[in-house]
Order: sequence, then structure tokens, then C-alpha cells
Amino acid sequence: MHIPRSHPRYHSLMTREKLADAFRRGLVVPEGLIAHGRGECFDYIIGEKSRDFALEAEKTAVAMMILAERPVISVNGNSAGLVAEEICALSKVLSIPLEVNIFHWSDERIRKITEELERYDVTVYSKGDAVIEGLESARRIVDSRGIFRADVVLVPLEDGDRCEILKRKGKKIIAIDLNPLSRTSRMADVTIVDNITRAIPNMIEFARDMKEMSREELEKIVMNYDNRETLRKALKAIIEYLEEKSGDL
Ligand code: ATP
Ligand code: MG
Repeated sequence: MHIPRSHPRYHSLMTREKLADAFRRGLVVPEGLIAHGRGECFDYIIGEKSRDFALEAEKTAVAMMILAERPVISVNGNSAGLVAEEICALSKVLSIPLEVNIFHWSDERIRKITEELERYDVTVYSKGDAVIEGLESARRIVDSRGIFRADVVLVPLEDGDRCEILKRKGKKIIAIDLNPLSRTSRMADVTIVDNITRAIPNMIEFARDMKEMSREELEKIVMNYDNRETLRKALKAIIEYLEEKSGDL
């Protein structure tokens, strides 16, 4: 479908088009389209831009990933459909492997997502040769080289249950989720309340600069970070934005 650039909701419509295309190519499941709708709604009331609390979380996430010993970036269908190229660029700039991990599991979809990422010449784990105990969904199936042994995991568009279990296993979790009320958001160590389509490019920019920082500087960024404060700020931003909008009427 052709979407004119002048359309007031151009970006949002283009993102939908991209996801629908990924659905047709078998990367995304129908449930993923619904999950995106929930994300869109929160994005609308956040003002569809990266707010200061999101930028701070993105910066902290990058610091944590640089400091980590065995970091990994988990990729699901929606992430691959929306930002495959950008996630691969982030993986390269930080030298962090990717792991395909999906909720609605099928061999074929794992293969398709893996192939989509490998187009960008990155390391992708998708062997599914290990299991995270205590989790019933397919997300328990992981790669022994990746999430299974990782100390820091970036999980865009995560589901709350796995986030909880990964944390119980002692891993640090960075989530990207536009819903500051979700279980994932509350459970993660760092919650990036931003659209993944903005968050990953922001993180690439931060990563380029922060790679040069000393360990002390990076540790200071992580130490000064408070995730409850981020979630509080996100909810306040929504309230203020809605108040402003109601005042315009
Ligand atoms: P939880 O299980 O953590 O309580 P949930 O059930 O609301 O959360 P899921 O359906 O498991 O969430 O996952 C979808 C989540 O991803 C939603 O919270 C939604 O806000 C978020 N989301 C969807 N699309 C995007 C996007 N493009 N960028 C950031 N977040 C998104
Ligand atoms: Mg859920």
C-alpha cells in the first residue's frame, strides 16, 4: 500500500506496514500484531517521542551491556520485523551476539528470523539446546551459548513471565516496553519506555560514544540509575501529556 509522506500519521502507518509485511513473510504471528497495537496506544499517550526518562534508561542499558561479561540480545518476531537492521547494527557496535527467542514457537519461524538477521552478517544463536527451568512457555527453550549463560539480557517486547524467571536466575534484564504498567516493566532492572523503532537507533548512537568511556564512568551511570523512578516519570509524563491535551479542547 502506498502511504503518502504528507500523511499526519506517516511514521506510525509505515511501521504497521513493515510489521504486516513481516507477518506475510512468516516472521511475525497474528498475536504479535495485537501486541503492537497495545504498544501503539501507549506510544500515542507518551507523545510518540523518546522522553528524557527513556534516553536515560537507554544510556544505562548501553553502559550495562558494555560492562557485562556475557551479554546477549534476545530477538523475537516483532523485533525482527520492525528493526532487524538496527538490532544487528547495535549487536555489531557492541560486539554482542543475538539470540532468537520466541513465545509462539515453530522451527520454521526460528529459521526465518535467524535468516533475516544473518543477512546483516552478525552472530545469531538459535540452537535451542538448553531449557530455563521454571518456565512453561516456549520461551524456556534457549541456546546454551546465549541466554542460558548470560549475565545481562536485552529483551525487547518481553513477556512478563520469562522476565521474572530470568531475574530469578540472577540475570540482569533490560526491557524495551512502551507500557510502564506491564509486569515486564516492573520486573526488569532497566525498563526503556520507548518505541523499539526509536530506542534501538538511540542506543546505537550512545554505544558509539560510550565505548570510549572508562569502566568507572560506566559503573557510575549504572549506579546512579533508579528504575522505579523511571517508571514513575513515565506515568507522570503520560498524565501531564493527557492533561495538556484536555486543556487544548
Ligand atoms: P506483561 O506480560 O509484561 O504484563 P503484556 O501482557 O502487556 O505484558 P505482551 O503481550 O506480553 O505484554 O507483550 C507486548 C508488550 O510490548 C506490550 O506491553 C506493549 O506495550 C509492548 N510493545 C508492543 N509494541 C512495541 C513497540 N513497538 N515498542 C515498544 N514496546 C512495544
Ligand atoms: Mg504478557
